[in-house]
Amino acid sequence: MTPLIPGYLTTAEVRSRFGWSQQFVSTVAKREGWNVRKVGNAYLYSEIDISEYWAARERTRLARAFGWKVPGLVRHDEWDIECPTCGALAITRPGKNVEEHIKMLLSENPEWLCVNGHHGVGFREVEASQEDK
Ligand SMILES: [Zn+2]
Repeated sequence: MTPLIPGYLTTAEVRSRFGWSQQFVSTVAKREGWNVRKVGNAYLYSEIDISEYWAARERTRLARAFGWKVPGLVRHDEWDIECPTCGALAITRPGKNVEEHIKMLLSENPEWLCVNGHHGVGFREVEASQEDK
């Protein structure tokens, strides 16, 4: 389907991406300050804003899977890597402090988790742990 405006998604597309109700799309759009455009009766939402929000939610989920108690959404991309297995968003295990995290990033074998459930050390994928299932 051709987008009404390139780079913008319809409410229906946002709903299907997150599994939300129509009302919730508008609530989150307001709360998050997404760029919104109105065409006729339709509201269109900036795909970049939506992708950033999606990434923040996924990072938060992965950080929690690593045992991190994250109070809000993880909006920075300091932990991001590309999954060596599928190329999707993955994060390296966050360090307990900046020093530990830098050490982790510089190490040859950082541990990582991917949004599609891949889990590995360095560029090697290891068996998914049972506790995640
Ligand atoms: Zn993956």
